[in-house]
Amino acid sequence: MTGRIFSIEEFATFDGPGIRMTVFFKGCPLRCSWCHNPESQQMGVEYVRSPNGCLGCGRCLQAAKTAEDGTKHLTAASVEACPRFLVRRCGEDYSTDALCDRILANASILTSTGGGVTFSGGEPLLQAAFLFSCLEVLRGRVHTAIQTCGYADAETFAGVLERCDYVLYDLKLMSPDQHREFCHADNAKILQNYRTLAASGKPFVTRVPLIPGVTDTVENLTAMAAFVREQGVDYVELLPYNRMAGSKYAGLLRPFAPGFDENRPVELHTGIFEKYGIRAKKM
Ligand code: SF4
Ligand code: SF4
Repeated sequence: MTGRIFSIEEFATFDGPGIRMTVFFKGCPLRCSWCHNPESQQMGVEYVRSPNGCLGCGRCLQAAKTAEDGTKHLTAASVEACPRFLVRRCGEDYSTDALCDRILANASILTSTGGGVTFSGGEPLLQAAFLFSCLEVLRGRVHTAIQTCGYADAETFAGVLERCDYVLYDLKLMSPDQHREFCHADNAKILQNYRTLAASGKPFVTRVPLIPGVTDTVENLTAMAAFVREQGVDYVELLPYNRMAGSKYAGLLRPFAPGFDENRPVELHTGIFEKYGIRAKKM
């Protein structure tokens, strides 16, 4: 079994309890307009350039290819062409054994901090068979968590709940229309899987990205607080918008057009959650 990974962070402090190794899976079923990991979205291997130290010589672009839709993409030849080594490949295939060996090599350190491994993305459930194979190898040997947008069929979601120890679950928009507009997919599966998670007894945390004028509105957060409370949840984490989100798009030669005013201050509205008896913590 092999899976496609775009990054591994060795000692992460933000992706679950304790110190964690975070494994970022490539591929996501959503296309959130605020996504700060655009290189995570497509399953295919991509090449990305960093602006730091760029000479502006354009050699990487000369080696780029043009797709049928007219978009330009850096290539393996762009990596070779850059005199400053600023172009890197994004997407490596790992076997279950190779990835688990790497995780287990750090297991005792991670465990000593109360941590473990977190499978993130992209969306790890998009490569469910590979994810399950890893979780089965790691079961009982290191604490395992998944960070998910929840967009998966019910059977896949039940499968991951059986195999992992902890879930970080993102909730974004309660309106199906707005979810389609800003994330390019319906939210029915996401809400249904959240109900399943809350009823399962599996330890989890709800995380809400606060996007100015999109997810941080009184209307959205009131509907979310009511929904979350209905499932018996009394704690959520609020993640204010990362204003650096746009910078990575240029590295992929993609335009960044988020469709909202990035410079508008984020509204925290923790009082809305408090009204429903939910503690909301800004991260
Ligand atoms: S779910 Fe996460 S990784 Fe996927 S598009 Fe949205 S922000 Fe990006
Ligand atoms: S990324 Fe490298 S090849 Fe491309 S313009 Fe900058 S220095 Fe030149």
